[in-house]
Amino acid sequence: MSKFYNHDRQSIYFPGSIQPHGILLALEESKLAIVQASVNTEAYLEIPYQNLLGQQIETLLEAQQLKAIHSCLSKDFSGVNSLKLSIRTQKGDRPFNALLYRLPGVVVLELEPLYLQHQESLFSVSAAVKQAIAQWQQVSTYREFLQSVAEEIHNLTEFDRVVVYQFDAQKAGEVIAEAKREDLPSYLGLHYPASDIPEPVRQLHQRGILRFIPNLKAAAVNLLPEINPVTEQPLDLSLAMLRSVDPCCVEYHQNMGVAAIMVISLVKDRTLWGLIACHHQTPKFVSYEIREACELLGQFVMAELASKVDREEQSYIAKLQSLQSEFLQSISQAEDLKSALVNPAPRLLDLVSAQGAAVCLEDEITLVSATPTFEQLRNLINWADTQLSNSLFYTDSLPKLYPEALAFKDVASGLLLLQISKVRRYYILWFRPEVLQTINWAGDPNTFVTVADGGTLSLSPRKSFEKWQETVRFTSLPWKGCELDQALNLKSAIVGIVIHKADELARINRELERSNQELDSFAYAASHDLKEPLRGIHNYSTLLLKGYESVLDDMGKYRLHTLIRLTRRMESLIDVLLKFSRLGQTQLHLVPTDLNQLVSRVIEDLRVSRQQQVEPIIRIPRSLPTVNCDAVLVTEVFTNLLSNALKYNDKAEQWIEIGYLDAQETESYQSSAPIIFYVRDNGIGIQKRHLEIIFRLFKRLHEQHLYGGGTGAGLTITKKIIEYHGGRIWVESTPSVGSTFYFTLST
Ligand code: ADP
Repeated sequence: MSKFYNHDRQSIYFPGSIQPHGILLALEESKLAIVQASVNTEAYLEIPYQNLLGQQIETLLEAQQLKAIHSCLSKDFSGVNSLKLSIRTQKGDRPFNALLYRLPGVVVLELEPLYLQHQESLFSVSAAVKQAIAQWQQVSTYREFLQSVAEEIHNLTEFDRVVVYQFDAQKAGEVIAEAKREDLPSYLGLHYPASDIPEPVRQLHQRGILRFIPNLKAAAVNLLPEINPVTEQPLDLSLAMLRSVDPCCVEYHQNMGVAAIMVISLVKDRTLWGLIACHHQTPKFVSYEIREACELLGQFVMAELASKVDREEQSYIAKLQSLQSEFLQSISQAEDLKSALVNPAPRLLDLVSAQGAAVCLEDEITLVSATPTFEQLRNLINWADTQLSNSLFYTDSLPKLYPEALAFKDVASGLLLLQISKVRRYYILWFRPEVLQTINWAGDPNTFVTVADGGTLSLSPRKSFEKWQETVRFTSLPWKGCELDQALNLKSAIVGIVIHKADELARINRELERSNQELDSFAYAASHDLKEPLRGIHNYSTLLLKGYESVLDDMGKYRLHTLIRLTRRMESLIDVLLKFSRLGQTQLHLVPTDLNQLVSRVIEDLRVSRQQQVEPIIRIPRSLPTVNCDAVLVTEVFTNLLSNALKYNDKAEQWIEIGYLDAQETESYQSSAPIIFYVRDNGIGIQKRHLEIIFRLFKRLHEQHLYGGGTGAGLTITKKIIEYHGGRIWVESTPSVGSTFYFTLST
């Protein structure tokens, strides 16, 4: 590129020249003597600029005109004064539209001839303004409103094309409304990088001054002398309506085929919200009155826009809030959190206007719409978890912060992650795609002619669009404050409901505990009281048998014997019940207990009580650990399990193995996982369908006289003791091969 344009403040604000459709005079402040003039004065005043230098302004004006100027100056004005002035020329008085303003030490007077043929009737301009305003009040959304603005300005000014740009937070512009000559291609939907408007120019627009360039090709007119004798510097033309056009701007517009432009600034809260840009393919003059009307309309647009944007923002927030309350309702009613969040799926997306989401409850991840893969998500969560602040992490350019995201930028260039719980790994993630995927291609930029670089700076809508694409690569639409609020509100709602549910659960638990206790004491009282009449029945039966033996026949004696046997059996059942109910009422005495000692005592006791049986082989593959438990109750556990292992075995060579699993052998291996103990035998085994029911009270699988009898309560008591310790028990078995009872003593 051979040409370099200087976009600095100096060259834009102090170009030393003006556009040729008016003249500029710089006056020394005290005497209002002309110290600088544009060199085109002869064309408008019939006086060469050299003759004007040093003259006082009053030589050009009638007394009344001079008074008007003095009255402006005496007001200590800071802004720009617009007035109509009549200037004496050799061909008589000539009317001008004048701008008067003060710079340090200098007063500037800009004059633009007032052409009768251009003079609009004030009536028609104000009618057009009224009509425009009336029209704008009809529309509700701000896009419709801006479309109507473009159309009304198009009607009023008759430019070939009127577009409304809106700038985003990065100052890139988007054409959001357009009114144009039918045969021209549309620019609607096109985006421009921030760099298309140099910062100093942006600042000028921000001041809200209308910029008018009737002919981009017209040669600029110099100001002489170049250096202002009062300030000893070139004149500051930043406020000048006639300021000449910087060459970059000329070229930029010429590449778009534009010869005349007018730009109305849209300023909101002191920042440049957007621009209304008017383009014409041929030079075009717009009357001063119409320009003033446009400036006024620009201000009206801003006032109206602020309220329309606010209204739209409000209705968006209201929509989000109603979604939020729907969530609240379904979460509070749902059985599980996940389905309340993801059913219906669009609701979760709409809550923050995302295109994808993931709900992660510990290791369970549920995906909604467009998202990264499970594997990518797991890594992403691990990373984002370190970036959290206030339970939230959000970005609209994830790949720039987290390079792995490049792989899934199409679905997640934007991420909003909400941490629901610090203790549990509960997260909700929302995703937005790269902006480039989001663009609504209202106008197809490919239809624009690309201007070849050919040694010149050649920007065109097409090239600008490409440049803009570069700047928005890897970014999504930004997350709005109200969307972040909704995410946080959702968290409070979930936490609130979960806490409420936990309270509810605690209440139910207390209730259950109380009724369990009541049940235990009832069972205790009942079984205790039952024993007395039972003993009476037993005693009387025995007495009957002894005292009336001679009178009773064999059948009578047999029946009395059966009665006595049944009362004994009933007594042992009642004893079990008593024991069982007492268990619920005793306190655990947890002490570190060496299970090796405990188990060997149990084996010893069993040996003594079962002397006549086959001597089994008892294997303990490795030393058992010392655990915190109630030694008396755990003795009972081993006694029950070992005696069953001995009882339910019909093999010639019987063996029992007592041990515990290695951590790796356990399915859900965690460092804090409880030890899993086991008692294994090579006995008769248990059929699959009986694996659960053997733990029920009084449940036996065999007739009373088989396998040494029993009450069917041993495993029930064992289970109760284990659960009392916070553990669980289960069995694996193969009929005829053997059984393994597993248990833990804590969870
Ligand atoms: P009981 O031994 O008094 O019948 P338990 O509650 O201890 O009562 O056992 C319930 C039932 O479970 C037993 O009747 C038996 O059928 C079965 N069972 C218990 N342990 C074993 C085992 N090691 N092998 C096979 N069956 C068993």
